[in-house]
Amino acid sequence: MENVTEKPSLDFLRAKIVEDLKVNKNEGKVVTRFPPEPNGYLHIGHAKSICLNFGIARDFNGRCHLRFDDTNPAKEDVEYVDSIMEDVKWLGFDWGNHLYYASDYYDALCNYAIELIKKGKAYVCELTSDEMRDYRGTLTEIGKESPHRNRPAEENLDLFIRMKNGEFEEGTKVLRAKIDMSSPNVHMRDPVIYRIKKAHHHRTGDKWCIYPMYDFAHCFSDSIEGITHSICTLEFEIHRPLYDWFLDELNVACHPQQIEFARLNINYTVMSKRKLLQLVKENHVKNWDDPRMPTISGMRRRGYTPEAIRAFCDKVGVAKRENVIDLSLLEFCVREDLNKTAPRVMAVLNPLKLIIDNYPDDLVEELDAVNNPEDLSAGTRKVPFSKVLYIEKDDFKEVAPKKYFRLTPGQEVRLRYAYIIKCESFVKDTSGEITEVHCTYDSSTRGGNPPEGKKIKGTIHWVAEKSALDVEVRLYDRLFSKENPDDVEEGKTFLDYMNPNSLEILSDCKAEPGLKNVKALEHFQFERLGYFTVDKDSNYDRIIFNRTVALKDTWAKIESSGNN
Ligand code: ATP
Ligand code: MG
Repeated sequence: MENVTEKPSLDFLRAKIVEDLKVNKNEGKVVTRFPPEPNGYLHIGHAKSICLNFGIARDFNGRCHLRFDDTNPAKEDVEYVDSIMEDVKWLGFDWGNHLYYASDYYDALCNYAIELIKKGKAYVCELTSDEMRDYRGTLTEIGKESPHRNRPAEENLDLFIRMKNGEFEEGTKVLRAKIDMSSPNVHMRDPVIYRIKKAHHHRTGDKWCIYPMYDFAHCFSDSIEGITHSICTLEFEIHRPLYDWFLDELNVACHPQQIEFARLNINYTVMSKRKLLQLVKENHVKNWDDPRMPTISGMRRRGYTPEAIRAFCDKVGVAKRENVIDLSLLEFCVREDLNKTAPRVMAVLNPLKLIIDNYPDDLVEELDAVNNPEDLSAGTRKVPFSKVLYIEKDDFKEVAPKKYFRLTPGQEVRLRYAYIIKCESFVKDTSGEITEVHCTYDSSTRGGNPPEGKKIKGTIHWVAEKSALDVEVRLYDRLFSKENPDDVEEGKTFLDYMNPNSLEILSDCKAEPGLKNVKALEHFQFERLGYFTVDKDSNYDRIIFNRTVALKDTWAKIESSGNN
């Protein structure tokens, strides 16, 4: 393909494909696939694989298939199939009409197995699974041949057909490839290719009671679909000889090339579907889309955007060696994206009443506020201002530490978009908690501009009491407090490292009234507090915001210049 230009920054996978295209391998075609097993929801690790496979297809004018690797009926479900399709689409990728299921190939796969049997390259084995494990040997010890290994082909064929017809019980027989019990690679020691499973399959129903193993199903599925580059994670490197053995033995027309890359690992989280399933099933989180989960659906609900996730996958790149990526890189990408697009609004999470003693009792002023300083085309809006306001509890201190530029008796601050006010006094209840702060304002400072020569260091946000909207805000922290929760000490499980404070619900928050008609998944920046996204369970009576990600820095600490 002449239109492919070599860039020095090409990752090793794309560099390999460029080489293949130069010699016109696969007649210049590039066909990849994303092959999830529908036994759970997709997570951020899958997003990397999706971006890679669909991204390569896009970059080389090829195509990428979505294929459900549905060969284990006991663990799979249509709920997962549906969620996976939704997530891939949401991430921004399109498989066109190339949607496939390994279960569509069960007949073809069964015929491949029969061909292997006829060639004397597969046999029915009746060892129990314990015996099979003992016979298999170890990394340092070669395996032992099964007593059934040398059955004649006709007998194998007869037994296999009867397995298929449901004549035998689960666990009594398997079909194995006849390769080499002394191979240094344990995967080549006569691996199982079919097992009996009297289970209902979400697509084929009760038609089958034998199901192919992953290694057998995967290579032939790739071959049937004309995949050119079968990209998978590093743990499959050791399976590659087997992948090639099956395709070579049956001399299939299309022999895709398996290429491995390092899976994505992120700290303070787990990424194994088994563990994520356990978190859901045992109610350690609310569901697969709990905003603390590393799932695509959890991230979507939390407010991460497809753009941010794709940018993250680009930034981590592809490598041949395992590494662990810092969660903060993902948060950085989310912040970068939302900074460009999220409208700014004011909300108070921990409200404290502030009264402007010299402000007219019934006056309501509509003040101009900028919707997004990063995008002036987003315009301005009116925010109501009146005598009684809410501010954040921690924007007032009775006794202020050094360099505290917010409210404390005698000190002046700017109310964002409003006026310069001066703290005069405060009220405490019997328990000693501060319940009101009293201030005076300078009516000549409307818009927040101090008089000539005066510098105001602190700016705080506020919401007018009269028109305030009651909202609930959910703050999230890392789900695990240990950097690598998979690394468990003796006698513990990964669950012992869960962060008990990963969710904090604030049910008495106040927001500016313009947020009354928000829609699920809308993003906002709450000034000084972070990015927040409307939860899907919100309704007109109860608006819920998820904190997507905190802001890096708050402008209360910054010099007043640039705040107007
Ligand atoms: P399982 O243990 O159920 O096999 P899995 O994470 O491998 O879990 P699959 O549904 O088989 O799940 O994965 C689909 C594709 O996503 C595979 O090609 C797999 O290699 C890739 N993938 C899975 N996890 C990651 C990860 N952390 N980083 C990159 N790719 C991944
Ligand atoms: Mg897998």
